[in-house]
Amino acid sequence: MDFSKDSARSLILKQLSSGQKLLAVSKLQPSEKIEKLYSEGQRDFAENYVQEALKKIETLNHLDIRWHLIGPLQKNKVKLLKKNFFCIHSIDSLDLAMRISDASLEIQHVQKVFVQVNLSGETSKSGYEVKNLLQDWEKLTNLKGISVDGLMTMPPLENIPEKNRVFFKELKYIGSKLNINEYSMGTSHDYRIALEEGATWIRLGTMLFGERQQKRDHQ
Ligand SMILES: *Cc1c(COP(=O)(O)O)cnc(C)c1O
Repeated sequence: MDFSKDSARSLILKQLSSGQKLLAVSKLQPSEKIEKLYSEGQRDFAENYVQEALKKIETLNHLDIRWHLIGPLQKNKVKLLKKNFFCIHSIDSLDLAMRISDASLEIQHVQKVFVQVNLSGETSKSGYEVKNLLQDWEKLTNLKGISVDGLMTMPPLENIPEKNRVFFKELKYIGSKLNINEYSMGTSHDYRIALEEGATWIRLGTMLFGERQQKRDHQ
């Protein structure tokens, strides 16, 4: 059989069960590559840096793309979000959630968000500590300008993907206690494990686009 015509995307789609979706991580990738993947049928794209994202959103506004934000969000960037993003996956504090909620209400918007959970306990990784998340949960879900629909995690990059399975299991366990049913977990490196553990969004960059350009400091 000749597999050469199958794109990386179509090979990944074959591995998804119902309810599992592919998020194409386009940070530090040129708009041309986004257009190419779009032409293959991809509609959900994710960016990490607000300014880079806004530029691409403007350049590609003729396309019917759902943009997601998956990178850590600085509070002073909240006012730039407007209604540009379908979902923000990186809520990591009550303060940030409140600011997004307030800004959304001002423009008659309810922003869909996921809470990023730091399960590996590494202080260098962003995300809510589980204990703080449980403490803040009621306040988070009571905010009128956001809808907390999912949990996201970014486990440490173990060179053996199997080692990340415990983190995906734990995220799902926490979500089940909180009545959550969307899980953003798994990257190019460990998405197969994440799918087995019930990811509803896998976030793939390198696998779909190839290596990224270097991050420049002005982002
Ligand atoms: C960059 C990034 C990804 C994609 O990583 P790849 O290894 O390129 O698939 C996924 N999630 C987050 C939060 C990222 O920052």
